[in-house]
Amino acid sequence: MDQQQWNARKVVIVGAGAVGSTFAYALAQSGAADEIAIIDASQDLARGQVLDLAHGLPFFPRTNIFVGEAADYREANVIVITAGAKQQPGESRLALLQKNIAIIKKIARDIAAQDSSAVVVVTSNPVDILTYALLKELNWEAGRVIGSGTVLDSARFRYLISRHCDIDVHNVHAYILGEHGDSEFAAWSLTHIAGIPISEYCPYCGHCDDLTGLKETLENEVRKSAYHIIDYKGSTYFAIGLALVRIATAILRNERGVLTVSTLLDGEYGIHDVCLSVPCIIALSGRERIVQGNLLPTELQALAQSADVLRQNYAEIHTAD
Ligand code: NAD
Repeated sequence: MDQQQWNARKVVIVGAGAVGSTFAYALAQSGAADEIAIIDASQDLARGQVLDLAHGLPFFPRTNIFVGEAADYREANVIVITAGAKQQPGESRLALLQKNIAIIKKIARDIAAQDSSAVVVVTSNPVDILTYALLKELNWEAGRVIGSGTVLDSARFRYLISRHCDIDVHNVHAYILGEHGDSEFAAWSLTHIAGIPISEYCPYCGHCDDLTGLKETLENEVRKSAYHIIDYKGSTYFAIGLALVRIATAILRNERGVLTVSTLLDGEYGIHDVCLSVPCIIALSGRERIVQGNLLPTELQALAQSADVLRQNYAEIHTAD
């Protein structure tokens, strides 16, 4: 086939640390990308990760993995940002936030300079704030800049429900919405097993008498998941790597999958000008559409509270500028 007529599905990963490299590994195994470019502030780290991954090429579906540079943004279909600074001893949360905002803005300027038509997926934390900052810096249409949001948290939630009900996780539809952080909440009204609302599923499950107590336990377990894993092993990267493969694949293959990415709300659910997670249809153009489910009044309130928390955090950063 003429090389010039062939449109390679290209993903650029910015940040080759634990999350970026795990994502690259899982993406290469998935076969969803033809080209994977890896960029890191540390050239040595990028080179090392690329070599280590490239030595696995005989065992991966056909793909090309290489050290990227800013010019790779131009032809990229998807750019996934996992770059971030780590908290230094004595450094405040706000100082770290400002450092990460500066990193995101620098990456945004590099992307803009390449006239890229990619969809950008932010993973670095705090993901909702950084997604908003990147969107403002790029000034692109909202659907092209999304955050991994609560895709990971929703996966954790589905896993916990499936374990409790002893049912295949693929048959559990459940979403965590709002901030990827402490104010997130479980949208119980949208939770189904085998098409049956969770509230009506108890007779089939029989593992507990009262869903009320269980709801709080599961929701708290999801919220604390990252803290537990970080206590055990320092950081989380396997499940987020897979969540990123899911998001990238939905874009590359125009799948129109429903995922709870972080996206700019413009009046949906009564919320304006903040990035947070709600169910979205993800396709080639990025976030194609926001799905407005029938949330309960308490859930709408929780979503609004999450939006307030995020707005306050964003304002805090700018006040301290
Ligand atoms: P890490 O420290 O292992 O990797 C971060 C990498 O970013 C480092 O290699 C660093 O050199 C690189 N970097 C820093 N500044 C850069 C720049 N300007 N350009 C290019 N590269 C740069 O961290 P990690 O464990 O891979 O986590 C990465 C980020 O992902 C963190 O912010 C973490 O909190 C976040 N995270 C998010 C989720 C989620 O669900 N959203 C889950 C896990 C981790």
